[in-house]
Order: sequence, then C-alpha cells, then structure tokens
Amino acid sequence: TFRSRRGMPEKRKIRDVKKVVAVSSAKGGVGKSTVAVNLALSFARRGIRTGLLDADIFGPSVPTLLNLSGEPRLDENNCLVPLTNYGLKSMSMGYLLPQTQADSTGEVPMDTTPISWRGLMVTKAMHQLLHSVSWGPLDVLIMDLPPGTGDVQLTINQEIVIDGSVIVTTPQDIALRDAVRGFGMFKRMEVPVLGMVRNMAYFACPNCGHETKIFSHGDGDHCHGEESGVLAQCKRLGVDFLGDIPLDAKVCEDADRGMPTVVAEESVERSARRQAFLNIA
Ligand code: ADP
Repeated sequence: TFRSRRGMPEKRKIRDVKKVVAVSSAKGGVGKSTVAVNLALSFARRGIRTGLLDADIFGPSVPTLLNLSGEPRLDENNCLVPLTNYGLKSMSMGYLLPQTQADSTGEVPMDTTPISWRGLMVTKAMHQLLHSVSWGPLDVLIMDLPPGTGDVQLTINQEIVIDGSVIVTTPQDIALRDAVRGFGMFKRMEVPVLGMVRNMAYFACPNCGHETKIFSHGDGDHCHGEESGVLAQCKRLGVDFLGDIPLDAKVCEDADRGMPTVVAEESVERSARRQAFLNIA
C-alpha cells in the first residue's frame, strides 16, 4: 500500500474505472443490496459499461442476487477476473471465501478456522477486492458497501476514491434516523452524497391496486414539532431525493431466485417496480 506523508494509506483510483458509486445504508435489511444490483443492471441495460463490487464482506449477497458462484480465475497480472451474468461484471467476497454449506441433514459445519486467521483472510480478501480485480474499462462501478457507519466504511474510503454515494433507507423513523447518520459519515469522509432512495415506500395490493404506506404515516407528518419523513430530511440536508421503490413480493422473489427485477421484467410492459429502479438510475 502506498503511504502518504501522514502515514495513512494513500487513496487510489481503481484502474480503468471512471466513477465509483457506493450504495450504502446505515442499517441492515433495508434493501441496500437489492437496490445496488438493480441499479447496476439498469446502467448496464442502457449500454453503460458497469461493474458491481460486493464489499459487504460479512454478508455478501451478490452471488445469490446474480445467481453466480465459483472461484474467479486469476489473469496474467494475478488480478481476479470478474464473474459475469446478465451483462454485468461482478466481484464478491462470496466468490473468494470458502462457503460453509449445510449438509444433507441441514447441519451447517462449524467453521473451525481460528478467528485471528479468519481476520487475516478477510483483510487480505478485502484488499484484493479493492485493488486486484481486472474490471477492464468501466464507466461506473457500483459498490455495495457493508451496512453501518463504522471502521469498515472508513477503511474502504481510505483505500480507494469513492466518487459519490447513494443512501438507501425505508420510510420508517428509525431507519431514516440512521440514514441521516450515514449522511454525516459521507460528509466527514468528503464523499459527495448523490441522493437518497426510499425503499419499501408503499405496498401496492396486487389485487385491487390500493397503496398502503406500511413503514410510515406519510411524509409531511410532524414529530416533536418538526416535519418528519424522507422528503423533509432530504430538504433539510440539501440532498436529492432519487425516488421510491415499492414494497413488492415480486422484488423479493426475483432476488431470491437470482434474477433481479430489472432483468426479470425486461419484457413486461409497464412494470412499475422495474421502472422504479430504472428511474433512479
Ligand atoms: P440489505 O442489503 O440492506 O441488508 P437486502 O437488499 O438484502 O437488504 O434486502 C433485505 C430483504 O428484503 C431481502 O429478502 C430482499 O429480497 C427484501 N427486499 C428488499 N427490497 C424489497 C422490496 N422493495 N420489496 C420486497 N422485498 C424487498
């Protein structure tokens, strides 16, 4: 690693990659990976050369979301060659670490690797993911960041140049409060926040089409005398609101079977859920 004068590792640009956009959430389970993969596929569908880097080292979901597995091969420069599906190049910790598979009885064998070794493996793999992937020329690399606002995010930001970030939240107050914390983190890291995505914004009944706002009482509500909600926070922070994604069983189903909605509904005319992702991209 290059060192700057202050002894900190010097940030590097990822070779051959024009822009790195991090998709983040301060809280787990709000749909960060789902948004990241559908955004990346939306760009790829527009002919933009796109890659997806799964930096969620402790819970990589890109292999499942893109229906990819197997160890990537190394090229002549000892760089990892991304795995590709649906025209999207991807790299994930899930391809690098041995998977602990359940056996026929459903038992998952205990990982007996000493914790210190596991830590080293993770650090080494993370370094490889950030610096030794042969992406080839890319216009944009979408990075699925691990959830949270702690050391891992800081370390990643110290190692590579992140050109912009997208914050994913649900309308729920506690998720939104964390999203605001995420905004603070990017501000400290001097990474421009491109905007916020409101996932699971509403549930559209597949039978009657009625829309229910499950996680909020609606923007424009007041909490302790202040206007609450994602739109109000965006306005307050001066951040762009990028759009809504509905809470939709099909989005979840598509994710589980490894064919994200942007691809799965490609030939479905007027798919509102697909269009929601495309609009954000
Ligand atoms: P995170 O990366 O924030 O942990 P995930 O993208 O893994 O979140 O999503 C968590 C779960 O919620 C997954 O099972 C995913 O399929 C589901 N999910 C995400 N967004 C939606 C949505 N808009 N509608 C329905 N299910 C969703």
